[in-house]
Amino acid sequence: MQLAPSKPPDKIRVLCTKCRVPFREKIKNIREGAQVQCPTCNKLITFSSDSADLGVQRAFTEVRRIKNGMLLSIHRGSGDGVMD
Ligand SMILES: [Zn+2]
Repeated sequence: MQLAPSKPPDKIRVLCTKCRVPFREKIKNIREGAQVQCPTCNKLITFSSDSADLGVQRAFTEVRRIKNGMLLSIHRGSGDGVMD
């Protein structure tokens, strides 16, 4: 069992490029080829790393940043946590 003092978010903000209204989407849903629907205007957003959509690019960047942070905290945690 792991105790994380600051739990990384499981959702990030995605900006819809059609209606410009941000919404929250689960990180695990944001991956190459995945599609989510904007809850405001129902636009289907396809996550692709070569998408010209700025909102998609930002979402990818954010997910990468959070995943890197999670890896770092896992490494740190396993070093300190076992000394009980
Ligand atoms: Zn929208």
